[in-house]
Amino acid sequence: MSVLLLLISALVLIYLGIGGTVAAAVMAIATVVGLFQDEWHLLSIIFGGIFLALALILVIPGDLRLDKISRPLLGWVRSRLPKLSDTEQEALSSGSVDWDGELFSGKPNWNKLLDAKPAHLTSEEQAFLDGPVEKLCSMLDDWKITHEHYDLPDKVWKFIRENGFFGLVIPKEDGGLGFSNTAHSEIVMKISTRSVSAAVTVMVPNSLGPGELLMHYGTDGQKQHYLPRLAQGEEIPCFALTSPVAGSDAGAIPDKGIVCKGEWNGEEVLGLKVTWNKRYITLAPVATLIGLAIKVYDPEHLVGETDEVGVTCVLVPRDTEGVNAGARHLPMNTVFMNGPTWGTDVFIPMDQVIGGQDMLGKGWTMLLECLSIGRSISLPALGTGAGKVASLATGSYAYTREQFGRSISQFEGVQEALEPIAGYTYMMDAARLLTSGMLDRGVRPSVPSAVLKYRNTDLMREVINHAMDVVAGRGVITGPRNFLARAYQAVPIGITVEGANILTRSLMIFGQGSIRCHPFIVEEIEAAGMEDEDKAAKKFDGIFYRHLAHTTRNALRAFLLALTGGVIESVPRHGEIIRHYRQLARFSAAFALMTDVTLLTVGGGLKARQRLSGRMADCLVHLYYATAVIKQWHEEGYPDDQRPLVEWSLKTCLRDLQDSMREAIINFPVPALRWPLRLLVFPLGATGLNGPDDSLGTKVSRTIVEDTPVRQRISRGAYTNMDPEDPLGRVLNAYKLANETAGMRGRLHEAIRNRDEDELDGIALLMGHERKELVDWACAEGVVKADECDKLLEALEALYDVIRVDAFDEDGLKALSRCAKGKRKVVERSPKEET
Ligand SMILES: Cc1cc2nc3c(=O)[nH]c(=O)nc-3n(C[C@H](O)[C@H](O)[C@H](O)COP(=O)(O)OP(=O)(O)OC[C@H]3O[C@@H](n4cnc5c(N)ncnc54)[C@H](O)[C@@H]3O)c2cc1C
Repeated sequence: MSVLLLLISALVLIYLGIGGTVAAAVMAIATVVGLFQDEWHLLSIIFGGIFLALALILVIPGDLRLDKISRPLLGWVRSRLPKLSDTEQEALSSGSVDWDGELFSGKPNWNKLLDAKPAHLTSEEQAFLDGPVEKLCSMLDDWKITHEHYDLPDKVWKFIRENGFFGLVIPKEDGGLGFSNTAHSEIVMKISTRSVSAAVTVMVPNSLGPGELLMHYGTDGQKQHYLPRLAQGEEIPCFALTSPVAGSDAGAIPDKGIVCKGEWNGEEVLGLKVTWNKRYITLAPVATLIGLAIKVYDPEHLVGETDEVGVTCVLVPRDTEGVNAGARHLPMNTVFMNGPTWGTDVFIPMDQVIGGQDMLGKGWTMLLECLSIGRSISLPALGTGAGKVASLATGSYAYTREQFGRSISQFEGVQEALEPIAGYTYMMDAARLLTSGMLDRGVRPSVPSAVLKYRNTDLMREVINHAMDVVAGRGVITGPRNFLARAYQAVPIGITVEGANILTRSLMIFGQGSIRCHPFIVEEIEAAGMEDEDKAAKKFDGIFYRHLAHTTRNALRAFLLALTGGVIESVPRHGEIIRHYRQLARFSAAFALMTDVTLLTVGGGLKARQRLSGRMADCLVHLYYATAVIKQWHEEGYPDDQRPLVEWSLKTCLRDLQDSMREAIINFPVPALRWPLRLLVFPLGATGLNGPDDSLGTKVSRTIVEDTPVRQRISRGAYTNMDPEDPLGRVLNAYKLANETAGMRGRLHEAIRNRDEDELDGIALLMGHERKELVDWACAEGVVKADECDKLLEALEALYDVIRVDAFDEDGLKALSRCAKGKRKVVERSPKEET
């Protein structure tokens, strides 16, 4: 009886988050009453002892607790906490925490999600999208760009420059358009639905690079000189971090700058002698202003006392003597400018250090602060854009393409592939908007930016792969008619750049998030790192017991919410998705518990436990995407036609979340903890969340096949036209005509099926290519009315045209190879790369 009494009082206190003296008093009373009521058996003594000890810790006089408990504990905690390098320390202190922090807390405050100001476009931004962006998209012929010109046409470059595309986010007072992050994302996304090469060309100057760095850290002189020129496209920037030896391990760059005196514009000034060898640099071949990350050394102590000053960002004008750039890489047949740059002992004055001499050695912090912005926008927008095109084109194509006498969209196998195309595109869009909304509120979301970059590019791959399966041969044969191949080829670029996905998933997301977003760990690390032992113990004493209570509460919440299906949790009622909210609350508690157990047991060894870190990253990804979908649906007013997509997304995320957590537990690196964790997180077994069922899957696949407002919603923001000569327009036009003539074509099919045995002409005509004769036959037979005949013929012609692929005769192939040869001089490899 006493054990039960104690347990219940402790559990209620913990669950309600009541601590301090109130908790101590309740537990002490319960212990004493319990001990005196029952016989003194062993369990009573053990539990009573534990609870009394806990109660004592809470009420024990501060000084005594500090010396006898907190100080020794700090020593133990020190040995468990990850040891951080300077770079990691800087990474952790960069950026800010928002919704990601709630997911790590174990008890997300749903109002914080639903009430947050959403992503929004001003009328000026919308007008830019409807005007210059629409016009730019109409100027882009991706086949010609990627296969004939190997570049954007001159008039496109001119249009991009003159219309401010390179200064989207530069403030108006500095000559830019001063657009929001959401507008930036929408613009890049729309262009990417037309041409990845053009989208990357526009995205890079607006993302991490000289512009962004100058806006945040530039001296007044640098801002005044460079920002207007960058905004107007008078300067083309690039930013070079990656070197052949240091790819992902950017902290290991060998590129260096030696502080020295040198000549600049005829005067002797203090500056840097810079040596670099960088590759894969976007826009480098045409850049006039090369941003470089280098390590600065000061052997003669001209600027300070230390030899090694640290990572620094500098700007090198292209026309400086000794600068090499111009040769091009060709990344997967996309032809945005990309190539190596190198130079040896090139002198630049201190004025060319971004932020001036004061910012020597602060480059890493600058890069990390700015990285979270660009990484939240560029590639997530590109991934979503690819999803939108794939949804529109594949849904349309599947509807129009007939096999075995039926639209292929009616085959369950094809529906299984259409389902994730629609569902994942909806999820990518929701996550993109949740994050750009955060950016517009001034958040610098370092962890969500990694989540979004990794997941949207990964989902882009999923979506495009499924689309290729559906479109089949028509997607495989490249040429001016193909509407998918270039997006398919671009997938690995997205996966690789701005933090390659394997590294991002298995090292960065959870590695950073578990510390950065944790409510207590950052302060504990700070306490552990303090040199003054008394101050350290005091700071630690103020945090550790709250941390302990937090962990215990999450363990209890995870267990009870799993047992009860979350019915004891209070969640929002909007949208009637209470079940999903409850499961998300449950998994958030389990995720927080797992985070604490991981940090306490694996601690600094987490970097080497990448399978665990990757699975925990996946858990966060699924929590983030599920809640992003809820937020987006909320912002749109819970339209009922989106319900299948919302349900599908939530069920998919919850199933995947369950699987990732289960995998993390059954492979947990400390075997003794596997069963306890399993018991707490999955007391009823690690099953039950089965993902979307077939009937929901069919509904979702229809959202991109049927001509409804929800199809428009999924593809919202993509560039479209109805030009039958355009690769996407051709499919959309055929889709429209197919819908308009659905009744007629149905009657035609039926008439052919019911034809007399000797009346073989009809079927022969349908199976052949004589569409005119077929329509004449249908009109003569009265299958379609006289005023329908032209429309039917137009539709049949369009439906045939849409399945055609390109074939090049010998002259055609020679012409293509002439195009390639004509550009040979530009496409040569750099001498540096060859050595
Ligand atoms: C088209 C293109 C454009 C680019 N544009 C620019 C640019 O403008 N400016 C610029 O500075 N850079 C640019 N990059 C460089 C890009 O950011 C790097 O390619 C990227 O950082 C990866 O480096 P790497 O290719 O050398 O891969 P590597 O570093 O060799 O990595 C190989 C694999 O190992 C994994 N890996 C590496 N370390 C770890 C680890 N510790 N834990 C787990 N996995 C790990 C990676 O995820 C990857 O899968 C561009 C690259 C490309 C391809």
